[in-house]
Amino acid sequence: MQRFSTLSPHSSGLLLLTSLLLSLLASGCGNNGQSASDLPGLNGGQPSGPVASGASRCGDVAEHPWCATSLSPDERALLLVAAMSLEQKIDYMAGDDPSSAATCVPYCGVVNGIPELNIPPIRMNDGPVGVRGGQSTALPVPLALASTFDPALAYETGALVGNETRHKGNDLVHAPVADLIRNPLAGRTFETFGEDPLLATRFTVEWTRGLQSEGILGNIKHYLMNTQEGLAGVPPLVSLVGGRNLVNVVIDERTLREIYLPPYEAAVKEADVATMMCAYNLINGVPACSSEYLLQQLYAEWGFDGFLVTDYYFAQKDTVQTANISAMIEMPYGIFFQPSLLQLAVQSGQVPEANIDRNLQTIFRTLFRFGFFDRPAYEVDVSQIDQQAHADVARRTVEQGAVLLRNQGVLPISEAVKTIAVIGLSATERPAGGGSSFIEPFQFKTPLDGIIERAGEQVQVDYVDGRDVQAAADLAAQADIAIVFANALSTEGVDKFCLALDCTLADAPDSLLLNLLPTAPDVLDLILDPLLSLSPVAEALEQAFAPILLGGQPLPVLHRNQDALISAVAAANADTIVVLQTGGPVLTPWREEVNAIMEIWFAGQEVAPALAALLFGDADPGGRLPASFPQLETDTPVAGDPTRYPGVANQAEHSEGVFIGYRWFDENNVEPAYPFGFGLSYTDFSMEGLSVSSRADGGYSVQATISNTGDRAGWAVPQLYVGLPSPSAEVLQPPVALKGFQKLRLEAGASRQLSFELNQRDLSYWDTGSGAWVVAPGCYRIMLGQSSRDLSLQVDQAVAGGSCSAG
Ligand code: BGC
Repeated sequence: MQRFSTLSPHSSGLLLLTSLLLSLLASGCGNNGQSASDLPGLNGGQPSGPVASGASRCGDVAEHPWCATSLSPDERALLLVAAMSLEQKIDYMAGDDPSSAATCVPYCGVVNGIPELNIPPIRMNDGPVGVRGGQSTALPVPLALASTFDPALAYETGALVGNETRHKGNDLVHAPVADLIRNPLAGRTFETFGEDPLLATRFTVEWTRGLQSEGILGNIKHYLMNTQEGLAGVPPLVSLVGGRNLVNVVIDERTLREIYLPPYEAAVKEADVATMMCAYNLINGVPACSSEYLLQQLYAEWGFDGFLVTDYYFAQKDTVQTANISAMIEMPYGIFFQPSLLQLAVQSGQVPEANIDRNLQTIFRTLFRFGFFDRPAYEVDVSQIDQQAHADVARRTVEQGAVLLRNQGVLPISEAVKTIAVIGLSATERPAGGGSSFIEPFQFKTPLDGIIERAGEQVQVDYVDGRDVQAAADLAAQADIAIVFANALSTEGVDKFCLALDCTLADAPDSLLLNLLPTAPDVLDLILDPLLSLSPVAEALEQAFAPILLGGQPLPVLHRNQDALISAVAAANADTIVVLQTGGPVLTPWREEVNAIMEIWFAGQEVAPALAALLFGDADPGGRLPASFPQLETDTPVAGDPTRYPGVANQAEHSEGVFIGYRWFDENNVEPAYPFGFGLSYTDFSMEGLSVSSRADGGYSVQATISNTGDRAGWAVPQLYVGLPSPSAEVLQPPVALKGFQKLRLEAGASRQLSFELNQRDLSYWDTGSGAWVVAPGCYRIMLGQSSRDLSLQVDQAVAGGSCSAG
């Protein structure tokens, strides 16, 4: 983008400038040399990460009065904007180096600085799974992190990403993802914190706090409702069938407030997030990046005073409306915010310059608040990263997030086992989600190597890749136990075409037709699949997509037939363990045939030591499902209804309302294969003594005792659910909703007192009529258990003058 050199202070700011200057001179303040965390102007000391000490890059106070750290961020922003020409202001409203978005070296996008005023560049990076641009710690995906049910690990992870971002010379990270799983086919399921608003909220808040504690600006995304990528959401096939760039999400306000907004609201109120990324899609007909509801009404309610960064290339959809309502930086370069368009909009009076000023003041206020001007630029020095400490966080997350779905006594692997058959291509690969969160790891060892190393010389480990199913079954038959590795692809840009482990582009028509006509896939399978699965056809299709999917990784060309492989191995060896590496829920038609199933998600660079520790019992599997696993493709909230997904004429009706995830399964009496919150430990836990007492403020305290009844230490995740009464036939409530959870380690035989707090908001629904949170009078069922479907302890509590007597 062009650069401007004229310095013409905006006249309307002159008066203010003068008065602030006077107050500044009176206080006699300068700041050079101060570290940002010492600065009184940082909004009462927050955010206060370990910002690099050293010289400020703001400049001399006499020349640049906004550099006085005795002033508040607001005052400084006013002074700075008043000193800027219109050209300079416009120049700072969009990114400048679109080519960097592909490689992320040295950043994934940048807003060039304005040297005449010492305004520094803002360097941005991705993201939720680690920092892009060269090697980084490749973390377990956010869904694995959410499976830990341990928000403290989210803080550690955010801080780790912040630290690596800093040492890669960047200032802002496009993360975390606060979208929820509505449709498990969605391509970016792996980047989310699951299907429940409370779980996603706790993880979003702690991740953001951790990140910003390192002096990095968080950019929580995608605000709002990027719940699907579409069946061909990748350019140049943008948005043909529900693609993220143009799909219109039709949704009611109660659902937004109760389900999809809470992580964003809490990120503002509790984590003081610096920025949000507005999403590609439209909401109720209005582009997310220019929605007054999202960007003015909610921000005012929540007290959000940070700014927005658009999602890349296609999110911003106009010039005038956006410039008039919100402080936004268009990334990775200005299309609607290109200087000529903005100049015209201002000159023609469509965008008053005062609005541009207000937007810039918001941007600079945030930057001042974060000490951005008052520290040196972060240096690129990857050698400063404590790779070992970061690897340790990644390894603990794999262990804590591994969900043991089934165990008929084969795990942990006993010392009696002398031969192990390891089967499956993904035992030697690093399955990962594709797109903007794909990370090049600092180090990586395959799961197979991890098993061989841990098993030691006394145990024979043999491997086949499973492409020859008979050879795999033969190997399994000769071994004491068999471990089959299976994976499923997920990527940004396009949704999965099926929930089975193996589905490729050849399944795309199935996926579309499943929603149009539930029986169609059978017919289609007969006619189209043989053709589309022919090697040359599939290869041509997939190679065409490979460069833009999976971060450029090659796609497997043909179905791997992993379901058939698992069944064949299980038939050959009763002690078969399946290790799943997926980015979300998958179908497990063979689940009763095998003796153990462990879901470790896309586990990142430390999969080898962590998985070996889990399989051999050095670590207890700490994970619980953050998303329901359906039995059938047709069991999800959107299956069989094209108006819901992918949408008809690009209108995706979210008519299931609040009923997503387990809320959907419960409300419709559909039995999931594995429910939300479920996961086994190597030990057993029991809970008793549930009691509820009311608090003076209208909330409730919930107590119970949990005990480890097994003979080894393990991780327990007690979960508190509430069944809210429906205030009317129009406001139906799900049978259960998560309201609290804890993660604790208990030694064999140990007991612990549990305590949960329920406040008014926990018991409220969003009343659209009054536009407020309301506690409905009625009987509330308070339930404690170890998953959304294991809630043996229950107490009924009359609330708000309601009654629990029958009738
Ligand atoms: C993604 C964002 C990402 C951005 C920059 C977009 O395609 O939707 O999540 O941060 O690219 O890489």
